[in-house]
Amino acid sequence: MPQEFLLDLEKKVFAGQDISYEDGCRLINLPDNRIFDILASTEKIRSHFKGAEVNLCSIVNAKSGLCQEDCSFCSQSSFYNTDVKTYPMLNSKSIIDAAINAAKNGAREFSIVTSGTGIDHGKDVDILVDAINGMKENAALASLERCASLGITKRDVLLKLKDAGLESYHHNLETARSFFPNICTTHDYEDDVKVIRTAKELGFYVCCGGVFGLGESREQRVELAATLRELDIDSIPINFLNPRAGTPLEKANYLSPIECLKIIALYRFMLPKKDIVICGGRQVNLRDMQCLIFAAGANGMMIGNYLTTTGMPVEDDLNMIKDLGLKPRGRANKKT
Ligand code: SF4
Repeated sequence: MPQEFLLDLEKKVFAGQDISYEDGCRLINLPDNRIFDILASTEKIRSHFKGAEVNLCSIVNAKSGLCQEDCSFCSQSSFYNTDVKTYPMLNSKSIIDAAINAAKNGAREFSIVTSGTGIDHGKDVDILVDAINGMKENAALASLERCASLGITKRDVLLKLKDAGLESYHHNLETARSFFPNICTTHDYEDDVKVIRTAKELGFYVCCGGVFGLGESREQRVELAATLRELDIDSIPINFLNPRAGTPLEKANYLSPIECLKIIALYRFMLPKKDIVICGGRQVNLRDMQCLIFAAGANGMMIGNYLTTTGMPVEDDLNMIKDLGLKPRGRANKKT
């Protein structure tokens, strides 16, 4: 019986036991009409480990397009003919202005995101160091955590940015190791795993997740969760594919809202103490069921615009959280 199975999983979670790959596969294959049984469990788990606080993060697309990688979902890849804007690294003032705007919107985490395989020493790193220093010294940004997502970047560059005041590093694995070659052929999965291990070793709060709806199987969604658990990731951003014109996945279908909720629930069960942040594709895949992401186990979401697409009006998101009796998380309260 699904209820007994779910109660058994709950007991394992609260007893500190890891949910197995097999149980994860059984969970994500539960019929859609059991979704509210699943949400009853994940609401308990989320509120036990994360309380009523919601992580709000925002990003700036600091360098856009012209990427040498061929990720099949991405409009910033130079392999595909898309309508994406292309521009080099913004100057540090523009990055700091974007951070100020994010803080005004209520974001507690701000990430500087760049397209491209990775960032190396030179002008771009100098701009980033200036921007991070500027954010650190700006009193209006005292409540904002400083994050960056700069691709497959070398240890010494990451260390330089950490010394400048960077606190978090984001780098997605995007999908399960077994499905990755279907998504990207220009670098190996191990290249991404290595960046994440380095960021952990350097003491960053590490944010790493993926994009769902790329054609992966349900079992591969469980495989990715197990990999993130093995890497002891601190925060998992969950994106749902929003197909972009000109990319190989432009004709892909949206996931159903219930499928999205089951994915979130799976990650809450398999990574009960971690931050789970809902990012790209939220409104186009979940539509009117967006507010159920928290009952499904999420304790965070991206607010404002995404890298190349428009997000929900920030006020609507803040009202949604308030209506659910939840509240934005403060700076100091980061649980890993
Ligand atoms: S996802 Fe990142 S690495 Fe992949 S093509 Fe897009 S910008 Fe490049």
